[in-house]
Amino acid sequence: MLSVRDLRVRYGRSVAALHGVDLDVSADGVLAVLGSNGAGKSTLLRAVSGTLRMHRGTVAGGEIRYDDKRIDRLDPAEIVHLGVVGVPEGRQIFARMSVEENLRAGGIGARSAEQRTKARRRVHELFPVLAERGRQRAGLLSGGEQQMLAIGRALMSSPRLLLLDEPSLGLAPKVVERIGAIIREIHAQGTAVVLVEQNAVMALRVADHAVVLEVGTVALSGAARELARSEDVQRLYLGGH
Ligand code: ATP
Repeated sequence: MLSVRDLRVRYGRSVAALHGVDLDVSADGVLAVLGSNGAGKSTLLRAVSGTLRMHRGTVAGGEIRYDDKRIDRLDPAEIVHLGVVGVPEGRQIFARMSVEENLRAGGIGARSAEQRTKARRRVHELFPVLAERGRQRAGLLSGGEQQMLAIGRALMSSPRLLLLDEPSLGLAPKVVERIGAIIREIHAQGTAVVLVEQNAVMALRVADHAVVLEVGTVALSGAARELARSEDVQRLYLGGH
């Protein structure tokens, strides 16, 4: 579905953030992208969603293909239109707008009114709280609910591939668990998911496959279950000794 080959990304002249990343995303499982601070996880998602330029970054080499079409030169809106939608780190919901208005904003790119209605029904079923609190200002929601809104807003354009950047950030363990279960459900409904996380415990529980980024390259990759057992991953990311 998505293939990334020898991807190199720079910010300005001096910062090389990715030095040749290879990655494949298929529809048959959730893919987790792990790594410590500054490893390049967000940069990878920005490159795929076309939002790198907004951060003064550029693709310096390699290519990104989605359904065999090159997308590394497309605008973010064109990439959304193809069915690839990202939820950026820090949620970035419209705090002064209502919950429903946020969802509507996510549905602007939908192909038809019918598709929009279907997507809204799906979002309300996944996140009943967003239906209950539709008229409330989004900024008044709790952190977990805001994350749900950010995911719900992305689902409004019925993506085939959802890119999540640290959805667990700043949330209580119970809420993280709930978000993890929802990610599984979204995948079970037929949407492929890439899950970028610093929370390796959560990510390896939720994902089927995983890659570990270290300073801009893929250091490890494999089945999530196996990586969870690997000594390096245990020591570096799971708090083992
Ligand atoms: P985090 O978990 O902290 O978000 P990350 O793994 O997502 O980390 P990136 O944010 O992709 O890492 O950063 C990769 C490298 O690129 C880091 O060295 C970072 O300092 C640098 N970087 C990221 N964004 C920019 C930017 N807008 N301008 C310059 N350098 C940047």
